[in-house]
Amino acid sequence: MCDWTNYQMYCPNSGTLISGAKGTDGKIRYCCPRCGAEIIRTIKGRRHDTIEVYAPREPTTK
Ligand SMILES: [Zn+2]
Repeated sequence: MCDWTNYQMYCPNSGTLISGAKGTDGKIRYCCPRCGAEIIRTIKGRRHDTIEVYAPREPTTK
């Protein structure tokens, strides 16, 4: 029942390779250590994922 597969992808915000873990609700959560974005990936099917990106709230210095 628990899926301990490590899911990896690149942060859509900063391009950093991040890894997440699947939760009990079937969603995979990522937190980018570089830009602080939170990404929630929902697997809808074998060939269909949706990715939601929550950008960090604090202002970034450029
Ligand atoms: Zn990032």
